[in-house]
Amino acid sequence: MRGSLPLLSLCITVPALVAAPPKAAPHGLDLAGMDRTVAPGDDFFAYANGAWVKRTEIPADRGSYGVGREVADLTDRRTAALIRGAAQAPAGSELRKVGDCYASFMDQKRIEARGLSPLGPAFKAIAAIQDRTQLARYLGSTLRADVDLLNATNYHTANFLGLWVAQDLDQPDQYAPFLVQGGLGLPERSYYLDPSEGMAAVRTQYTTHVAAMLKLAGLSGVLERATAVVDLETRMAKAHLGREESGDIPKGNNHWRRADFAAKAPGLDWEAFFAAAGLTKPSVFVVWQPGAVTGLSALTAEVPLSVWRDYLAFHAIQHAAPVLPKAVRDQSFAFYGKVLSGASQPRERWTVAVDLTNQALGETVGKAYVSKYFPPSEKIRAERMVANIKGAFRVRIEHLDWMSPATKAKALAKLEALQVSVGYPDRWRDYRRLKIVPGDAFGNADRAERFEYARNLAKLGKPIDRTEWVMNPQLVNAVNLPVMNALNFPAAILQPPFFDPKRPMVMDYGAIGAVIGHEISHSFDDSGSLFDATGKLENWWTPEDLKHFQASADQLVKQFDAYEPFPGLHIKGKQTLGENIADVAGLAAAYDAYRLSLKGKEAPVVQGLTGDQQFFLSYAQSWREKTREPQLRQQILTDGHAPASFRPYTVRNLDAWYPAFGVKPDQKLYLAPADRVKIW
Ligand SMILES: [Zn+2]
Repeated sequence: MRGSLPLLSLCITVPALVAAPPKAAPHGLDLAGMDRTVAPGDDFFAYANGAWVKRTEIPADRGSYGVGREVADLTDRRTAALIRGAAQAPAGSELRKVGDCYASFMDQKRIEARGLSPLGPAFKAIAAIQDRTQLARYLGSTLRADVDLLNATNYHTANFLGLWVAQDLDQPDQYAPFLVQGGLGLPERSYYLDPSEGMAAVRTQYTTHVAAMLKLAGLSGVLERATAVVDLETRMAKAHLGREESGDIPKGNNHWRRADFAAKAPGLDWEAFFAAAGLTKPSVFVVWQPGAVTGLSALTAEVPLSVWRDYLAFHAIQHAAPVLPKAVRDQSFAFYGKVLSGASQPRERWTVAVDLTNQALGETVGKAYVSKYFPPSEKIRAERMVANIKGAFRVRIEHLDWMSPATKAKALAKLEALQVSVGYPDRWRDYRRLKIVPGDAFGNADRAERFEYARNLAKLGKPIDRTEWVMNPQLVNAVNLPVMNALNFPAAILQPPFFDPKRPMVMDYGAIGAVIGHEISHSFDDSGSLFDATGKLENWWTPEDLKHFQASADQLVKQFDAYEPFPGLHIKGKQTLGENIADVAGLAAAYDAYRLSLKGKEAPVVQGLTGDQQFFLSYAQSWREKTREPQLRQQILTDGHAPASFRPYTVRNLDAWYPAFGVKPDQKLYLAPADRVKIW
C-alpha cells in the first residue's frame, strides 16, 4: 500500500478531511516549494519540500496534510458532486441508493430528532445479558468484516474480534475465515501499557471520554464504571500481540478446528458466539493471534457481567458516533480528533458523509467516478507504464548476481503471473441486496456493515475470485494483494501530481512510477518471498538466497531504526521493513524504466533540472506531508509504513542520486557504496 490515511476504521475516529479549497496542481515540479539553502545530501526531504513545509499550515480539522491529502480532497469534492447528483437518479436504481444514502448522512436535523433511539435495540440486548452464553451471543453478533491482514493491512477493530475472509495460505484454491484480535478502543496495546508520561495522559483522557460517552448513553456513576471499562481493555491489551509481531505471517497462520476453540481458548461459549455470528458452516478457522484469542476468551469468564455490559454500551455508542446526534459526535471528536490526532476542529459534515457513502456503496460511486474522470486513454497510458516497470523489474531479476538460478526462475514465474488491474475492477460489485432507507442514517450505516459482512461470508466455499478489488477506484492509494498475486491501481491515484500527461514522462516515473514499482516489488519483499506464484505460503528461496536477502533487509532495518522524529522515539525499522524494501526496489525499477524508455538518450533539461534531478525531486515531492505530533506518534506505533516525510530518504540507496545532486561523503545522508541497500 502507498500509505495509510485514517488510522482506525472510519466508524470510530477519523482524523479529518478537507478544508482548504484544492488548487489545480501545477504541471511540473514545485520549484517554489523547495528549500535550496539545505544541501540535498544533508536532508533531501527538506531540500525538495522545505519552503512548502514552512508556508503550509495543517488545516484545523486534520492530523496531517500533504500531497496525498491534496489529491484526495479534489477527488472527494468531485465524488461529492457525483453523489449529490445521484439524488436525481430514477427511484429504485443503484445510483439512487447512493443519493439516498448520502442524503441520510447529511440530514442532521433528522439525526438530532431521533436522538439515541436507533441504538435502542442494541442497548436492550446489552441490558439483557444476564449470563455468559448471552454475552457470547452478543459478542458474536458484533463480528464484522472490518480487518485485513495482508492487503490493506488494517489490524485494528474495536469489536471483540474481527473477521477477514481471504485465500487460505496453505490451500490457495479456497477461502478461509481469519479471526483477528480486537476489543480495544485505543489504537494499539502500547497505548494501555506504555509507562511514559505522554501515554499515561492519553489513558486518563480516554477514561474521561469513556465516562462522558456512558453519561450520554444515559448511565449514572460513570467515572467508576469507565475506570472498570478501561481496566478491562487494559487486560485485553496485555493478551494482545503487538503490531510488529502481528505482521509475522508464518506465526499468524494457525488453523484451529471449530472443536479446538473450547480447549485452546476456554471461557467464551464459542458455539453461541459462532452461531450468533452466522459462522455455523466453517469447520476450520485461521487464528492469527492465538494468545490473544485465549486471553480475550478467558476474560469473558472472569470479568463481571456488569463491567461487560458497560463496556459494550460504550462501544455501541462509540461505534455509531458518526451517525448519532451532535453531542455524541463532539465528544467523540474531543478524544479521537483532538487527543489522538491533534486536530482542533471536527471535519466538515459532507466529507464524513462522502466517506460513509464510499464505505456503503463504494463501487457504485466508483463506477460513476471513472466514467467521468478516468478516460480510456489514461487507462491505456497507465497500463503501458506498468508494463515498462514490470519489464525493468524482470531485467533487474535476471541480472541479480547473488541469486541462484532456481530462485530466479521462480521469481520470474511469479512476476509473469502477477495480475495487474488499473483504474477499476473488470466486474463491478452487486449491491442489489443492500437496503438503503431515505432518512435512516444509522440504519443505512448498520445495514452496509452487515451487507459487507454477509458478502464476505458468502465467499466461503466458493472458488477464488481473482477479479475482486479491495480498494475503491476513487481512493488515492494502490495495493498489492500478496496471496492473490495481484495489484490494484485505483483511478484516483492516476492523476496529477502523480501522473500527468502535461509534463515530462520522467517526472511521472519518479512519482507514480515509483508507486507502481513499490507495489510490484511487494510480491518479492519479506512477506512476498513467503508466497509462491499461486499464493501458497511456501518459501521459494534457497537458504543462501534467503541469507543474502535477510542480510540486506537487516541493513535496511538499521537504516530506518536510526531515524528519530522525536527524542527517544525512533522509526521502527522492523515493523516498516516490507514497505521500505518496496520503496527501495520500486524506486530502482522506476529509475531503470525511465532510462529504458529513453533508449540511451538523456532526458531534456526542464525547469533547469536534468532528467535525473527531475526524477528524484518528483519522488521527494510526491511524499511531501506535514503531520501533527500526536498523529505522527500514533502512526509510528501502528503503521507498517514509515512516515511520509522519511520516505524520500530512500534515494540514499540509489547510486544515480549521488552524482545528480553532488552528494559528498561528509553529508548526513551519504552512504558508502557498500552500505547502499540493493535487494532487487
Ligand atoms: Zn506498500
